[in-house]
Amino acid sequence: MQLPREVIVGKGTIECVPEVTQRLGFKKSAMIISGTKSYDIAGKIVRELLEREGMIVDTFLVETATIRDVRALEEKIKVSKPQVVFGVGGGTKIDVAKLGSARQGIQFMSVPTTVSHDGIASPLASVKGFEKPYSIMAQAPIAIIADTDIIMHAPWRSVVSGCGDVIAKITAVKDWKLAREEKNEYYGEYSSSQALMSAKLVIRNAELMRPGNEEGLRVLLEALISCGVSMSIAGSSRPCSGSEHLFSHALDMINCHHAMHGEQCGVGTIMMAYLHKTCWKRIKDALEKLGAPTTACELGVRNEDVIKALQKAATIRPERYTILNKLNLSQEACEKVAKITEVI
Ligand SMILES: [Zn+2]
Repeated sequence: MQLPREVIVGKGTIECVPEVTQRLGFKKSAMIISGTKSYDIAGKIVRELLEREGMIVDTFLVETATIRDVRALEEKIKVSKPQVVFGVGGGTKIDVAKLGSARQGIQFMSVPTTVSHDGIASPLASVKGFEKPYSIMAQAPIAIIADTDIIMHAPWRSVVSGCGDVIAKITAVKDWKLAREEKNEYYGEYSSSQALMSAKLVIRNAELMRPGNEEGLRVLLEALISCGVSMSIAGSSRPCSGSEHLFSHALDMINCHHAMHGEQCGVGTIMMAYLHKTCWKRIKDALEKLGAPTTACELGVRNEDVIKALQKAATIRPERYTILNKLNLSQEACEKVAKITEVI
């Protein structure tokens, strides 16, 4: 079980980077993985702060998260041999930093500039170019430094997406329980409770999630970090990723002009909650309150894409048993689910 040693959330916390880095024993060299925009917003500050302490700092800019980006980073790590790698940015930059550093046996620190999904603290990385469309094991960050002053400036849509990714844990946990009951799969009570609690807290605090409201952002950040930690404890993405995530992955494969990860997972959660015979209307209400998409049209996909994705979802990860495997829905049944829940 790998867990972060330091988690620092709040206004202006980017200033803590040198202190935390030194405390963790990295005093000589570091490498910053960032995007062009996130480098201007935060990467440059991290670099200056570390250089002020006399550290040698290298920078590697990426715009996508593909296996090629990860390999290029690994080559760069082999040459400059940094003691620690920083992922500074949104999901893609952190994912590249996380996987590249893990493959080279170097620790990594997460400095998120957005809150669009739970990858900011999880041990998994979502990188394109592998056979599988879902996240793979990499390593948990040794520290997470989330500066709400910086994250506050991220597009509001990324906050809404982050909320969707947390709310998704309601059905992810139900799928995990189902797999324990029907397939005798290992089930972690603690990690599933932690993921579920995060979802409940985000729903309960939906009215705090307004642009410019730091309190709401904090609730979301803590929920996302808790979800990341729950995956470290479980040793897999099980507590945080079930049938609703499979629906989102399937939608990515069917319609490449897709919406954000958490937005798709949110819509998936509504339908999977219906299939689990649980509070799907409450989930839909919470998403509506947050201004998150709840329909195919709002996701920017066609009705038939949703039906196709529902059917495909059950097939893309056979080892992950979910309600979709249990029910084995026909095309008509998929259409019915989407219609009843008003997704189409
Ligand atoms: Zn997710």
